[in-house]
Amino acid sequence: MSDTTKISIVVLCIDYRFWPQALPLLEAKYGPFDLIEIAGAAKNLLAPLEEDDRVVLLENIQISINLHHPDRLVLTNHTDCGAYGGSGQFKSRAEEIKFHKTELRKAAVIAKKEFPQLKVEILVIDKDNQGQILLIEA
Ligand SMILES: [Zn+2]
Repeated sequence: MSDTTKISIVVLCIDYRFWPQALPLLEAKYGPFDLIEIAGAAKNLLAPLEEDDRVVLLENIQISINLHHPDRLVLTNHTDCGAYGGSGQFKSRAEEIKFHKTELRKAAVIAKKEFPQLKVEILVIDKDNQGQILLIEA
């Protein structure tokens, strides 16, 4: 990789139902990225199960910055995420997506404060009725 290659950091949930299809779409959209997979993805910035989870996420972002000098941080959440209690917590898919957009916006504020040098983008990863992964900009 040349020094001029701009890379991103993507924060993604561990969920096997989403990441295998999401990775190539994310690569097509953002180019090369350092991948941080952690259960609940952006939730770890806002309301981690354990404070240590937030620390691990922030440390991994910092390591990526130190090693690869990314200019963009992409925070994602996905629908039917177990860390949020799954889709059953919501009346509709639209409501669930709206909830995650709100969560991601709050997480982005925190990330921007921690890493002001990074451009922060937020994305809801959804699956349509045919099982196709959709990247929804928040
Ligand atoms: Zn999840």
